Amino acid sequence: MTRRLVLATRNAHKVTELRAILEQTGLDVELVGTDAYPDVPDVKETGVTFAENALLKARALADATGLPAVADDSGLCVDVLGGAPGIFSARWAGRHGDDAANLDLLLAQLADIDTPYRAAHFACAAALALPGGTSRVAEGRLRGTLRHTPAGSGGFGYDPILQPDGETRTCAELSPAEKNAISHRGQAFRALAPQIGELLG
Ligand code: IMP
Repeated sequence: MTRRLVLATRNAHKVTELRAILEQTGLDVELVGTDAYPDVPDVKETGVTFAENALLKARALADATGLPAVADDSGLCVDVLGGAPGIFSARWAGRHGDDAANLDLLLAQLADIDTPYRAAHFACAAALALPGGTSRVAEGRLRGTLRHTPAGSGGFGYDPILQPDGETRTCAELSPAEKNAISHRGQAFRALAPQIGELLG
């Protein structure tokens, strides 16, 4: 029997990306976005790690809908900035979700930093919460180097400046399938998938 899993995001891009990742794992689940449940309140991301925030979002959604819920929290961690923007990636320039402003500010901050010192990684924590209280979390990372100028039109967020290790292209120049195969989100959800299968039976 296909089980319904609610995904803690109103971002259609993310629902599509996660559906593709989870389909490949062979899990028999129907993934629906939070939009299908308009009365669910937004959750304050008060955690200080990706895992804490992913668990907060999944738990709140499972409790509000009475359904198994999955959530992720992700961001870009820059070595020379001590791991920033990290959990603040979506609002680095001050306004939540302003991808262009976030990217411009980060490039300005790193303007004098040469390529050998521009190592960074995308990080993702993926969490599953069941209405009864059980929860699980898994994490993934995509390491790379930050370009000085953006390249590519695919993806979102900081994709145009992260060139994954072993690649000559940025994440924004990869196809969605190529990115999912190596991405932090792909890794985290592929690690979580067997636990989803086990707990949903
Ligand atoms: P959240 O996980 O929805 O809170 O998003 C965190 C922020 O991290 C996004 O707004 C992006 O700025 C950044 N981010 C997370 N994953 C990616 C990615 O795969 N590509 C580019 N930026 C990302």
